[in-house]
Amino acid sequence: MPELLVVKNLKKYFPVRRKFLKAVDNVSFSLEQGETLGLVGESGSGKSTLGRSILRLIEPDDGEIIFDGVDIRKLRGEELRQRRRFMQIIFQDPLASLNPMMTIGQNIEDPLIIHNIGTKEERRRAVEELLEIVGLGREVIDAFPHEFSGGQQQRVGIARALALNPKFIVADEPVSSLDVSIQAQIVSLLYELKRRFKISYLFISHDLAVVRYLSDKVAVMYLGAIVEMAPKEELYQNPLHPYTRALLASVPKMPRDGERQKRFPALKGEIPSPIDLPPGCRFQSRCEYVMDVCRKQEPAFREVSPGHFVACHLV
Ligand code: SF4
Ligand code: MG
Repeated sequence: MPELLVVKNLKKYFPVRRKFLKAVDNVSFSLEQGETLGLVGESGSGKSTLGRSILRLIEPDDGEIIFDGVDIRKLRGEELRQRRRFMQIIFQDPLASLNPMMTIGQNIEDPLIIHNIGTKEERRRAVEELLEIVGLGREVIDAFPHEFSGGQQQRVGIARALALNPKFIVADEPVSSLDVSIQAQIVSLLYELKRRFKISYLFISHDLAVVRYLSDKVAVMYLGAIVEMAPKEELYQNPLHPYTRALLASVPKMPRDGERQKRFPALKGEIPSPIDLPPGCRFQSRCEYVMDVCRKQEPAFREVSPGHFVACHLV
């Protein structure tokens, strides 16, 4: 499969009081069409900034974003707009992407109008079909967003994101604000869309259980950098970075028959300020295995087995 998205050495630094907050610090990964990368990490680790930088909703400082063979960082104006229709975003708060003054139908039709697609009649049919696809039914077309529950609003947000037939969707904590019972429904919907339309997601979440369900591979982000990335089962069964191990330890899980529950030390201490990080490993202040070399030298992000990358001096 050819790669749909290749992100190389992406950087986004925010100046803060003559120093820099390295929100995205040299991030690289790639995705094939239909493949989903789960991106996990605590709040403040740069997950959303990374997602938005890839779509250029935030302008990155450096690096490449090669989407369908074209570096979209080099595109401007109309060219960028045309290319970006295939890259969409779903927000944590569905209302962030919906206009409260417009009906559900108008909200979903809006991107089609912006991109000058179809006649009025064709767009109406497309909207009805999208409502069916996301499980709402066409009869809600004239309702307004405020008449809906959070889960229904998220379905509308998803329909709107789907309107332009995207190949890639950044799903930024799309279920975090919903009730647990509703979360499962939305995650299943995203999974079904991935299978049906071969959509690739960058699925951002702090919930490792949700990520496991939807992802093909998983990346763990800490203070602006990916510290470990691996195919899903490899990451959950053979986590190598102390931070990944600690994150997994904090997930309650039922051991399978005959399998002993793996015990990893839970995370201690606060996440340090991402401004002006000390030299060496960015996890040193919370790592119980910290060695001298960790305080001096930043560990390289190395491939230790096929597709399994980790940045740690222990490995
Ligand atoms: Fe811990 Fe050192 Fe590995 Fe960083 S490089 S995670 S401080 S052992
Ligand atoms: Mg976020």
